[in-house]
Amino acid sequence: MSVMITQECINCDACVEECPATAIVSADDSPLDDPEYTYVKPEKCIECVDCSVPKCFDVCPTPGAIVWDMPFTEAFDDYYVNGHEEGLYKLRVHKKKGLFSPANQPRPFREVITQEQRDAHAPLDF
Ligand code: SF4
Ligand code: SF4
Repeated sequence: MSVMITQECINCDACVEECPATAIVSADDSPLDDPEYTYVKPEKCIECVDCSVPKCFDVCPTPGAIVWDMPFTEAFDDYYVNGHEEGLYKLRVHKKKGLFSPANQPRPFREVITQEQRDAHAPLDF
């Protein structure tokens, strides 16, 4: 990640088609064991680093539905692997390459977002 979708989400799916990285899936297509909400695949999210505003945030009608999570970088490999094992995420597993964890496949992230914002899972706000 990246960004994370919270329980504030109303499952309107407006964000699904907007993501340039095809990182968002509806609850029906979520890889989680017991999905309730639209889901962001952290191993795919690029935080829309080349856009002024993240596309998902731009179309989302619900304040607080999309929040910051940790950068998907090697420094946060344990964070995402633990989250995967606990069921918070469901990272892709490649037959040969194994788990698509941050150490294996780091993704771009917005350096202007502070660690405090990410630790607090602060809502996106532009
Ligand atoms: S921040 Fe961008 S890449 Fe990440 S889920 Fe939202 S639209 Fe997709
Ligand atoms: S646009 Fe917002 S409310 Fe709608 S599915 Fe996406 S995160 Fe949920």
